[in-house]
Amino acid sequence: MTGERLRLMAVHAHPDDESSKGAATTAKYAAEGVDVLVVSCTGGERGDVLNPQHPAVEGGLDGMREYRRHEMAAAASALGVQHRWLGFVDSGLPEGDPLPPLPEGCFALVPLEEAAAPLVQLVREFRPHVITTYDPTGGYPHPDHIMCHRVSAEAFAAAGDPERYRGLGEPWAPSKLYYNHGFSLARMRAVHDAIVAAGRESPFGDWLDSRQAREVPEREVTTRIECSAYFPQRDDALRAHATQIDPDGFFFAVPRELEVAQWPTEEYELAVSHVPVTLPEDDLFAGLRGDATA
Ligand SMILES: [Zn+2]
Repeated sequence: MTGERLRLMAVHAHPDDESSKGAATTAKYAAEGVDVLVVSCTGGERGDVLNPQHPAVEGGLDGMREYRRHEMAAAASALGVQHRWLGFVDSGLPEGDPLPPLPEGCFALVPLEEAAAPLVQLVREFRPHVITTYDPTGGYPHPDHIMCHRVSAEAFAAAGDPERYRGLGEPWAPSKLYYNHGFSLARMRAVHDAIVAAGRESPFGDWLDSRQAREVPEREVTTRIECSAYFPQRDDALRAHATQIDPDGFFFAVPRELEVAQWPTEEYELAVSHVPVTLPEDDLFAGLRGDATA
């Protein structure tokens, strides 16, 4: 692999997920000369305007899709990464008891092989060494996040197989698959405790309570990427999603110097590796850099 540029593909469900999960990692690798491609499975069409300071977006799903295309372009520019859409339609977050059925034609209802095909094609075109996605629970119980996991795992497993997804490009087998774990209970609690200890009001109390109430099992963290130098780029990317991110809200509630001191890393779980590794790791490309694989 000596002399070849390393390539990282980060697969996400909606525009803005790339800025809230692993954003500083992608900015860091891009700055270090890695080719980084962020993939958004859906256009985020069913997202509400979550920023109380932002005016309503007119035009229904088409209007929101168009709006979020511009936000996403600005976020990709802030992170210094390339970006592609898979073109599926946001499933929305079903709410109520009982839950309403998912809207017809949405991403989460597309049969797996059909949903994974454009990602397989993109893997064969971009030829990533490493792919990041969500764990099988989605990391967050949104049907598109679970579907994002499923298509990523399928593309990772199938893109290198010449017998599968024929006609979608030359086979390419990525070497490592990771799950994003930036919202670990450990991180949120450490930051919360530090905010309280500093005599400030923490915005994470409710988050911690509901997380504990849902009894989400903590998944294993195998890999920590020190990326605090790129928190400013992450913050710029978050702010680019102006319909979604309140600049005075949750994501900006932690003083940056406190965050850097308490938690300067982003976390991942190595799900599959086709190269020998030693855990824990501090690099998504561990085992893939030149003589490490000799
Ligand atoms: Zn999302």
